[in-house]
Amino acid sequence: MTTQSFELEVVDVVEETADAHSITFRVPAGAEADFAFRPGQFLTVAVPSDVTGLAARCYSLCSSPADESGTLTIAVKRTADGYASNWLCDHLREGDTLRVLPPSGIFTPASLDADLLLFAGGSGVTPIMSIARTALARGTGRIVVFYANRDERSVIFARELTALAAAHPDRLQVVHWLESVQGLPTPEQVRAFAADRTSYDAFVCGPGPFMKMTVAVLKELGFPRERRHQEKFVSLGGNPFGDLPQAEQAAEEIAAAEGEAPEPDGRPDAAGLVGPVRLEVELDGETHVLDDWDPATRMLDHLEARGIKAPSSCREGECSACAVRLLEGDVTMAHNDVLDDEDLAEGIRLACQATPTTPVVRATYS
Ligand SMILES: Cc1cc2nc3c(=O)[nH]c(=O)nc-3n(C[C@H](O)[C@H](O)[C@H](O)COP(=O)(O)OP(=O)(O)OC[C@H]3O[C@@H](n4cnc5c(N)ncnc54)[C@H](O)[C@@H]3O)c2cc1C
Repeated sequence: MTTQSFELEVVDVVEETADAHSITFRVPAGAEADFAFRPGQFLTVAVPSDVTGLAARCYSLCSSPADESGTLTIAVKRTADGYASNWLCDHLREGDTLRVLPPSGIFTPASLDADLLLFAGGSGVTPIMSIARTALARGTGRIVVFYANRDERSVIFARELTALAAAHPDRLQVVHWLESVQGLPTPEQVRAFAADRTSYDAFVCGPGPFMKMTVAVLKELGFPRERRHQEKFVSLGGNPFGDLPQAEQAAEEIAAAEGEAPEPDGRPDAAGLVGPVRLEVELDGETHVLDDWDPATRMLDHLEARGIKAPSSCREGECSACAVRLLEGDVTMAHNDVLDDEDLAEGIRLACQATPTTPVVRATYS
């Protein structure tokens, strides 16, 4: 069982810059609750492919849940030699449809009333735009955007940002950083920018080196982990649109043909746990208690098998859509490409990769 995908109609495509298009989808009637989102979250889209059937890719929403327009907008920037981004920019037109998974992700402010320090580089502006728009519409805090680009022509949403800053002079300040004029931002320059704002909630999204440098500066300045957020733009390797029971069935058939029993989940019960584990999970204000977690099954698969609609996207430990925080017990992860040491120390784990190492595990999605 996987999260249900929806066929969404494209209602608008805008060439924002020479290499970035924004794409607006209409939320299908009856699916409004599925597509309710928090600013900073992303959609996962299925890009058709002659080679693999589809390529699944995540794109952050740049629109705001405060819009109430019944539409969702993403912005896609072409990646040099990339497959999906170029396909989306070249082929998608108004009236087309695309398979889309509902919004997910944890790059989202805990409070819209907080003061926000938003760092964007290039296409990393998409979730930042949604956070800024929403906080301005529904929150009360001050918002500062540091937006780095190669040159003036590559600035996505330049007009919108100017208009927002003009409409909210007391709350929004936007600082554009152009590499063509000022060179790449240095740690000293970012430090000078952030030093007076150490009480703000910081969000960073952009190219790898930009994020690494900015996050290192924020750490140095003493921003605690809960006020330091980053979103990594990576391509998914897996296919979250696939049907898991079918995949499991296929694995069993292959193993049977080879004359051996399949190892569930591809890994033995490393913790030596025998018998089922008790799993308690808080999700959307509800606590689910499951007494039958097979220690060789991943947490996300177990929740889904019991009919619980838990958030997920890549299912490969590459995004953070399925992140949970442990409250009791522990798990081990088969693969983790997103959580750093501090995340792990705080008990954050990826449910799609987690198998239990203790007889009781309590976790929360909040
Ligand atoms: C949470 C999140 C949010 C993101 N938000 C945004 C955003 O707002 N805006 C944005 O622009 N990007 C965003 N990204 C990045 C985006 O998901 C893609 O990684 C990016 O667009 C590059 O994808 P690409 O396919 O063009 O490039 P690549 O992934 O570099 O393309 C090459 C890959 O495609 C495969 N490939 C080549 N040809 C084919 C084919 N014919 N069929 C199938 N596969 C093929 C290759 O094997 C190779 O693996 C986000 C990523 C994440 C994780």
